[in-house]
Amino acid sequence: MGRLEGKVAIITGANSGIGKATAERFALEGADLVLAARRLDKLKEVEAYAVAQGVRALSVATDVSQPEDCRRLVEAAVAAFDRIDILVNNAGIDDKNKSITNCDLELWEKVISTDQNSVYFMMKEVLPHMERADQGSIVNISSIGATRSNAGISYTAAKMAVIGMTKNVAIQYAGTGIRCNAVCPGPTETPIFSPENAAAFDKEFARACARHFDGSVPRTQPEDQANAILFFASDESKAVNGETLVVDYGGTI
Ligand code: NDP
Repeated sequence: MGRLEGKVAIITGANSGIGKATAERFALEGADLVLAARRLDKLKEVEAYAVAQGVRALSVATDVSQPEDCRRLVEAAVAAFDRIDILVNNAGIDDKNKSITNCDLELWEKVISTDQNSVYFMMKEVLPHMERADQGSIVNISSIGATRSNAGISYTAAKMAVIGMTKNVAIQYAGTGIRCNAVCPGPTETPIFSPENAAAFDKEFARACARHFDGSVPRTQPEDQANAILFFASDESKAVNGETLVVDYGGTI
């Protein structure tokens, strides 16, 4: 029997990288899936994989930076499955490692709305349904950029806020059936590190603040992050609440 048998999971950013690996892993563990991202065609590929594993799956085109989209996503999930057991807030963008002096307001607002506000929107929509069942596990994807404050200014701020919201929600529901934890991936081989994207990174600032960019510690694979997300999502972590788990080969100890 799979570790998530009988559970319904919403995963944002499920068509690429860590979110895709998590969706595929959750399908193998028996969860029914609600998959969200902006590119529906890419979501459908993950949906097809999940269905081929024998679970039910629904793809919903969603811009998580928009509160109405998040509301629509959760409504679609409840209409299809009548319950939400797991929420993985994974959708996110990088900020090209821009220091405060290089981060304009447009970039700041884009990163904060995608990486931070989305987590607030999604938890706010999902928690009433978890309350109804008095059970649920939320897994927010932060970053070692938060624990070390060594990414760009907007990404650091957003991912630090994710940890703060995670602990705050965990406090609110401590002792109930609802838990909220965060995973902090280290550098992971996903499209964020595609040559085109990496070329746009602010190398000077990166050198100043992070040895994980110099290649001396290996990048993880999306599956390494999916394993950690699965632990928080499953009942095996039922006594773990308000925690953050760094998954980065120890590169930031
Ligand atoms: P990818 O670029 O591979 O995936 C990002 C996902 O987020 C895509 O599915 C994308 O889909 C979705 N997304 C982006 N913007 C939006 C939006 N506005 N609305 C809905 N979905 C959106 O990145 P990773 O897998 O690497 O990253 C996943 C998470 O892990 C992010 O939160 C990232 O910050 C975090 N992380 C990653 C690290 C790494 O080294 N890779 C390190 C630390 C943290 P679409 O474009 O179709 O909307």
